[in-house]
Amino acid sequence: MPTKSSNIQLETSPLIIAGPCAAESEQQLLETAGFLAQTSVKIFRAGIWKPRTNPNTFEGVGEIGLKWLNRVRREYGLKVATEVATPKHVELAQKYDIDVFWIGARTASDPFAVQALADALKGESRPVWLKNPISPEIDLWCGSVERMLRADLSHLGLIHRGFSTYRNEVYRNSPFWQIPLEMRRRYPSLPLLCDPSHMGGNKNLIGELSQQALNLGYDGLMIEAHIHPDQALSDSSQQLRPQQLAKILSKLVVRQSQIQPNELEVLRHKIDELDETLLSMLAERMQLSRQIGQYKKTENITVFQNDRYGDVLQHYTLWAERCGLSKEFAKQLFENIHAESVRQQIEILKEGH
Ligand code: PEP
Ligand code: MN
Repeated sequence: MPTKSSNIQLETSPLIIAGPCAAESEQQLLETAGFLAQTSVKIFRAGIWKPRTNPNTFEGVGEIGLKWLNRVRREYGLKVATEVATPKHVELAQKYDIDVFWIGARTASDPFAVQALADALKGESRPVWLKNPISPEIDLWCGSVERMLRADLSHLGLIHRGFSTYRNEVYRNSPFWQIPLEMRRRYPSLPLLCDPSHMGGNKNLIGELSQQALNLGYDGLMIEAHIHPDQALSDSSQQLRPQQLAKILSKLVVRQSQIQPNELEVLRHKIDELDETLLSMLAERMQLSRQIGQYKKTENITVFQNDRYGDVLQHYTLWAERCGLSKEFAKQLFENIHAESVRQQIEILKEGH
């Protein structure tokens, strides 16, 4: 249970935070901000220190980027936000008077790092937005919230950016909407934003994910925008040109009242997400079928091999029974999967003939 409630006063509803994944040059920030200042964006974001998976990639410009952010604020009147991941980052971001801080998903996954940040941020009056941890563990997210609430922050909020799961073909990070909705139930006073950029990992998904978040009563969005997304040094495929972002924002339908999703809706979301995962996994399985088809073609083996099919069917009908599913259902399911697999392999055979 929360030790204390804390609330960010949102200037607009929904609150829109946007800007590049990373600050790359002063010019890039100023040009991007120039466009965004003409939209409903109120806070300009840019990562200065980038937590990259691979150390051989761009890891951010560091301290100089904080000066550039100050210039953005001076010239365009936007508030500026950056990610802090260590006490040193907090110290520098405070020194340069950055208006808003956020804590990234990787940091939010590590209790030691979160505690170190909470200590560094103690009594902070600027808004701090805490992203969800990488893995879909609600208690880990709650633990990070608790650490932050104990640090007597004046303004704390949550950002839902999706969760890393075993291979999802569609989203870079699976939404698992039921987790942020449960966070909202547990911490009703904390505002909740959605980050459709890191969730979708693809600029084509940003519109629909943003609308979905607003339909669920989220308080705002954090979206990545870059003046030249194709040349971006990080997260190139998910960054929008400012003009594209403006178009998406203008089309969003903002719901009047905060709808509290009922239990049925939460369960439906859970089912939708599982069904999407099932389809993604089936697609992955069919990729393997195609690889097998390629092998059979090279080795001149027939596509359909009766022994193998009989064994598979028997194995999975038994497996299904152990999982509480009927044998009949499993049989039909695998007959369908097998038929699709054969179809995919026949397509491979036809290719190049
Ligand atoms: C970011 O917002 O730039 C970022 C690194 O996101 P996340 O922590 O969600 O991966
Ligand atoms: Mn990014």
